[in-house]
Amino acid sequence: MKHRVKILLPGFPGKADLSYLGWSTVSLVEVGDKRILFDTGGQGARTQLTAALGAHGLVPADIDMVFLSHLHYDHCGNCALFPKAVFCLTEREFIWAQQCTSDPFLSKLEAEHLKHCKVQLVEDGQEVVPGVTALLSPGHTPGSASLVVNDGGERWYLVGDAVKNRAELTTGTVDLSLDREASANTIARFQKLKGVLVPGHDALIRSDGRSFVPVGHPSVEIAFPPGLKVNPTYLAGGHTGILRITLD
Ligand SMILES: [Zn+2]
Repeated sequence: MKHRVKILLPGFPGKADLSYLGWSTVSLVEVGDKRILFDTGGQGARTQLTAALGAHGLVPADIDMVFLSHLHYDHCGNCALFPKAVFCLTEREFIWAQQCTSDPFLSKLEAEHLKHCKVQLVEDGQEVVPGVTALLSPGHTPGSASLVVNDGGERWYLVGDAVKNRAELTTGTVDLSLDREASANTIARFQKLKGVLVPGHDALIRSDGRSFVPVGHPSVEIAFPPGLKVNPTYLAGGHTGILRITLD
């Protein structure tokens, strides 16, 4: 059976001081005539997600399954768009999300919404459809999960926030983890994989198990209403690379 992975919304690794950007990767996995969405992005990306599906000739009702890597707001904010889909996530994540009251990134709203959806709880190593396997990838959240897909001989790993970006994959050091030791173990496992790795907040990365080569350049355009003067300033010193845009 033919498997194909398409990036619908590219992830972005930047941070901002005004609020969390949380622009996460959304991927489409096609297996024969079945369509699986890997994560849904945040609610702020809803228009872009619908447009990206449209660009592939699809509407939300064409999605058969939504696989949720975890229940942070920036990955599961558009579940309501897919009333026909079965929602897959790990039992550990589902239970944690119902009980947790301390993680500011957990979407309690979506955790509640999922109770009224068709939900399939998956375990580590479980095949969700033929040729597509769930992989428990804990640390970032207790029940974070990835998907492994064989795309015509090439192996794809959709990893969500188990690996958020190229820096985490290269250094093994993670930002924002509920269990740093578990995250380090998860990343150490992913560092050895050969194939294409799709992080939660970065361009896809080709890996031969030793070196990691990002493909593509994440970018964002911030537009202001006509007539406003924008004054961009690079901060020097320890903050190189941070672009601050200030309205005059
Ligand atoms: Zn997250």
